[in-house]
Amino acid sequence: MPLSIAIIGSGPAGFYTADALTKACPDCRVDFIERLPTPFGLIRGGVAPDHQTTKRVAKKYENTAMMQHVHFYGNVEIGRDVSLMELRAMYDAVVLAVGAPADKKLTIPGANKIGVHGSAAFVGWYNGHPDFRDLKPDLNTNSAVVIGNGNVAVDVARVLLRSPRGMAESDLPDHVAAMIHAAPITEVHMVGRRGPADAKFTNVELREMGNLKLTNPRVRPEQLPEDLDAVLAGYDERDRRLRIRNLGTLREFSTRKDTNKPKNVYFDFFASPVEILGGEQVEAIRFERTRVENGKCLGTGEMFEIECGLVIPSIGYRSEPIEGAPFDEKQGIIPNDNGRIEAGLYAVGWIKRGPSGVISSNRPDGVIVAEYIAEDITADPDRHGRDQLEAVLKQRRIRWIGYSDWQRLEAMEIENAEGHAPRKKFVTVEDMIHALDGLPN
Ligand SMILES: Cc1cc2nc3c(=O)[nH]c(=O)nc-3n(C[C@H](O)[C@H](O)[C@H](O)COP(=O)(O)OP(=O)(O)OC[C@H]3O[C@@H](n4cnc5c(N)ncnc54)[C@H](O)[C@@H]3O)c2cc1C
Repeated sequence: MPLSIAIIGSGPAGFYTADALTKACPDCRVDFIERLPTPFGLIRGGVAPDHQTTKRVAKKYENTAMMQHVHFYGNVEIGRDVSLMELRAMYDAVVLAVGAPADKKLTIPGANKIGVHGSAAFVGWYNGHPDFRDLKPDLNTNSAVVIGNGNVAVDVARVLLRSPRGMAESDLPDHVAAMIHAAPITEVHMVGRRGPADAKFTNVELREMGNLKLTNPRVRPEQLPEDLDAVLAGYDERDRRLRIRNLGTLREFSTRKDTNKPKNVYFDFFASPVEILGGEQVEAIRFERTRVENGKCLGTGEMFEIECGLVIPSIGYRSEPIEGAPFDEKQGIIPNDNGRIEAGLYAVGWIKRGPSGVISSNRPDGVIVAEYIAEDITADPDRHGRDQLEAVLKQRRIRWIGYSDWQRLEAMEIENAEGHAPRKKFVTVEDMIHALDGLPN
């Protein structure tokens, strides 16, 4: 009797697990259970809309989704439509691949003022994620501050500053493109607590900021280190190389002559946010200057303010607890032993490791868990996997989205695209269901 395995979440970690399972156990029946009608997790809802080449990895995942023993149940949320306990009674093994969808909260006074949007929400909004369709950020300001020094911060700054032409081949939803391109934002400040040697951008993303048609990259030379050995002590060889490349790029930005480009992105380091100022709406942020000593970031007591009408804290993501699984509040992950939570229950990707790394960093998680499953589990004749799941979903009148439904949606998105855009995304679950089934009577 073949094993029945449920993978909750269809982002990269879920797909790498399914791929590994189809190799480790070719007869296994593998079912994706995904809360959105659309697959691919942050590939669709996180990776920047103007980075279509990166998003193409989804085409490889499609080969896995199309395999005979693999099924997709979209629009089914664990905890809302079916519980983890119920699933565990139906399947021989359950793999949690639910990612880390929530923003790490900025906990300074004023952080809940109008105009402050965490990057999970803001990125979700500009990527057409249905959860954030109604975010409606007020972009009527000429100055925005992005707090953080990682690739997500760079993405946010670039999407705010890139010209309509530069965005022409993106899948930015129409309502988002209309708002961003009408916004008077000309200054974006990317502010990091530590120094430029500690910034986590990858070099390709950083260099891209120097190639924007309308925007000057601004770096203050006095913030760049003279003594590389001192600031890079403690980093391994690979990290040192990356950071030396980044410092070279920042140095090159710092030497650029004035141009007639109308917009600026300021890379500001050694600054820790202290308070968001204003009435109901954000008007400025107060920062404290920092210095980094023996690897530690210390406040100097010197304060300064940046005026702005929009603040995007881009300081990391966190997972949310799932009823029926343990949760480590401090680390924001499910405690696990290299992916094994207990026999029959596993974790992969960001819910396993925390929110770090690139798409391919999730691949080994899937390979390891597929091996554990092959080791730990024998098929239980009382567990009928998808037959039981479908019976419960039918009984609860849940309209699940199969992979062929998703393919129909995708074909419509591609057909509806205008100009050079690769697709015109559906941005609400209702619109997706209506497009598939027609309007309800
Ligand atoms: C803004 C942003 C941009 C990024 N850009 C890049 C990039 O350009 N290049 C790169 O290499 N990496 C990038 N990354 C990193 C990459 O996206 C992650 O490494 C990867 O997506 C993590 O995979 P995951 O499967 O763990 O989580 P996710 O991709 O988040 O997938 C989790 C899935 O689980 C589903 N889910 C959640 N809860 C439930 C539930 N209760 N029931 C059912 N389903 C559920 C979600 O809807 C989602 O589909 C980026 C990350 C972010 C945040």
